[in-house]
Amino acid sequence: MRAIVYKKPNRVAVETVPDPELELPTDAIVRITSAGICGSDLHMYEGRTPDSDGMRFGHENMGVVESIGTAVLNIKVGDRVVMPFNVACGSCFNCARGYTNACLVVNPDGVSGGYGYSGMGPYAGGQAERLRVPFADFNCLKLPGQPGDDFEDDFLLLSDVFPTGYHAAVLAGVEPGDSVAVFGAGPVGLLAAYSSLLRGAAEVYVVDGIRERLARAQEIGAIPIDYNRGEPCKQIQKMRSENHFIQGAQRPGENKMSGVMCGIDAVGYQARSFDDPKQENPIQVIEELVHVVNPTGRIGIVGVYFAEDPGGADKSAKHGQFRLPLGDIFEKGLTIGTGQTPVKKYNAYLRDLIIAGRAKPSFIVSHRLTLEEAPAAYEKFDQRSDGYTKVILKPEVSSIS
Ligand SMILES: [Zn+2]
Ligand SMILES: [Zn+2]
Repeated sequence: MRAIVYKKPNRVAVETVPDPELELPTDAIVRITSAGICGSDLHMYEGRTPDSDGMRFGHENMGVVESIGTAVLNIKVGDRVVMPFNVACGSCFNCARGYTNACLVVNPDGVSGGYGYSGMGPYAGGQAERLRVPFADFNCLKLPGQPGDDFEDDFLLLSDVFPTGYHAAVLAGVEPGDSVAVFGAGPVGLLAAYSSLLRGAAEVYVVDGIRERLARAQEIGAIPIDYNRGEPCKQIQKMRSENHFIQGAQRPGENKMSGVMCGIDAVGYQARSFDDPKQENPIQVIEELVHVVNPTGRIGIVGVYFAEDPGGADKSAKHGQFRLPLGDIFEKGLTIGTGQTPVKKYNAYLRDLIIAGRAKPSFIVSHRLTLEEAPAAYEKFDQRSDGYTKVILKPEVSSIS
């Protein structure tokens, strides 16, 4: 079969590789109809993670079950399914408590497993014609409809970015009436804003520096904040302090809560410096969030930070160590949640919102391409050029007009 294979920093290729096989009775083989390219694939693409030589990328996978092992009971050949990017066993201490992002069984080298990802176990990615799915009964989410229907792209986003955006809102404790600041208007940031609104937030500010992304944020009902126009936390505080309705509702002293109650980092360690966008400033977003979130507020960090980063700017950064404003965090009594999303906790509910017509996350998709077009798409996505924001590969299709 054909698959996307990592060759060296900034280069992937389409190669013919052996078809995956059923290795355990609990496996299924899925014929892929849609596979996302993710911003987190770019960390590997750029050579920013160890051990990705020869790796087959792709952790956002959806398709039709082609064969099942003898121990698979609830998933049938022909079922349309989407898989969480987390590979999980479903029965270990962490999985049983819903923390499938920290499965103790599937990754011999750590506490989380994933397809096609550095450090996440021996599972090939799904940017390919077929994918082996371990613990298929647990990891396959069954979907209605037919491949290629109007829900195809919405359902594909259940593998990672929609649940991750939703998880960000959960980590930040977004509840009805809350005010929220989301840093980053890539796919996850936009879906974090979208999820915050689904959860009933009163106001959602979205910070980015790219006009098209900010326009998307505005389209879904968020308030765009362009960091090229000045420090985002100050812009947000100014906007709120000039809002007569917000001011008119405050008792004496409440103007000390001039920021927002919930903050979301959907950028991570590769944040571009506001002062010099050519430079990375890995703690910039955290510093901004600590400024803009009110005392007793909450912060959700879903942007990626790695423990090992061969491309880090200095010795500490290479080991994922950064200076944090812990004094301010403590004085304000902020709660911070971090980490990978346990996709399984949310994907069935988010699927049902899609089916009911209450959510349409595919508004973030910019390109639908064939496998052959993937190497060029990686390059453009990495440059964020030509409007490449979210690419979905269609391995069964030989040309998309
Ligand atoms: Zn992803
Ligand atoms: Zn487990």
